[in-house]
Amino acid sequence: MSGEDRADSARWVQPERPLPVPTQDDVAFFEAASHSEFVLQRCAACGLFRHTPRPICPACHSLEHLWQRASGQGAVYTWTVVHGPTLPAFEAELPYVVIDVHLDEGPHMIGRLRDCPPADVRAGMRVEAVFEPGDDGIMLVAWRQSG
Ligand SMILES: [Zn+2]
Repeated sequence: MSGEDRADSARWVQPERPLPVPTQDDVAFFEAASHSEFVLQRCAACGLFRHTPRPICPACHSLEHLWQRASGQGAVYTWTVVHGPTLPAFEAELPYVVIDVHLDEGPHMIGRLRDCPPADVRAGMRVEAVFEPGDDGIMLVAWRQSG
């Protein structure tokens, strides 16, 4: 077995979790998340909150925007239960729930739902953002049921 083969075997035993690579459009989101702060991009001209971050307002086409602290609260709009197949890094977590959160500020955000059995997920269920450290120092946003 060559060294390269051993490296491949090690990766298979402990697969790396894929992580987002921040771009110029969303680096401010991940920077805030690194301090457990939930922010959204907001149009400076018309005030529309938007997600995913992008350079142009979909409502008024303004290029001006700001980042504003947001509630980190929302409701489950819809969801899916992942039974597999999935990436090797997530196999041990099957089945898991991915939700579409309708944020209180208006936009939708996709993320993992933590600490909730798949059978208990309901449309309209209130959720709040939680911050989870990933590898390489990036902080990920997930969701859990809130009161
Ligand atoms: Zn706008």
